[in-house]
Amino acid sequence: MGSARRVVVLTGAGISTDSGIPDFRGPQGVWTKNPVAEKMSNIHYYLADPAVRRSSWQNRLSSPAWTAKPNAGHLSLVYLEKRNKLHALITQNIDELHQIAGNSPEKVIEVHGTMRKVMCMGCGMRAPMQAALERVRAGEEDPHCRDCGGILKSDTISFGQQLIPEVIDRAMRVSGEADLFLSVGTSLQVYPIAGAFEVARAAGAKTVILNAQPTPFDGEADAVFPGSISELLPAILGSVAH
Ligand SMILES: [Zn+2]
Repeated sequence: MGSARRVVVLTGAGISTDSGIPDFRGPQGVWTKNPVAEKMSNIHYYLADPAVRRSSWQNRLSSPAWTAKPNAGHLSLVYLEKRNKLHALITQNIDELHQIAGNSPEKVIEVHGTMRKVMCMGCGMRAPMQAALERVRAGEEDPHCRDCGGILKSDTISFGQQLIPEVIDRAMRVSGEADLFLSVGTSLQVYPIAGAFEVARAAGAKTVILNAQPTPFDGEADAVFPGSISELLPAILGSVAH
């Protein structure tokens, strides 16, 4: 792995759990524990039901992400970029912990958007999430867009919403340019993004999987490391980056 020059990393919830941000589907997952939360993640319920939106705003206020800090896993990817080895960092996470850790925003491809912005469902306006949360703290239970009166939502891809084709296209293109593809903390079960692994492998990249649970691609990967991402990733990248 030491010869890798164009590393593409795909990250999922498993890299952020050690920062205190729960996984959605794991045994300790938000949805496993609270089925109502799944409704709040569905665009149809969100747009149709003010009660779902009010609950969603309360949920956003109390999100563990606002105080979460990047962990050693995130930091090892910053180190990889500093050594000029990081070609792209594709993430399914919406917490921006990669950028907060110090990865360049232009290296990070957020396939599910970001929870740190709001988007107006009416006019497409985007603004910092914290400004909207201030309005909720001040008593607005379901703040609407000040430009057009439209419904505001976190700038993330909810269930029932389309992924952004240009973003997915970019993720697939960079995966095809990798000489080493690292899949980190993702179950590789959700398409189209799980296909990035196949694109990279078909293009001749070495493939490495780090995840607590088995993935459908374990049999095809050059190496598989089960366990804690924040422990494994720094150790593995240490051998890539020098
Ligand atoms: Zn608007």
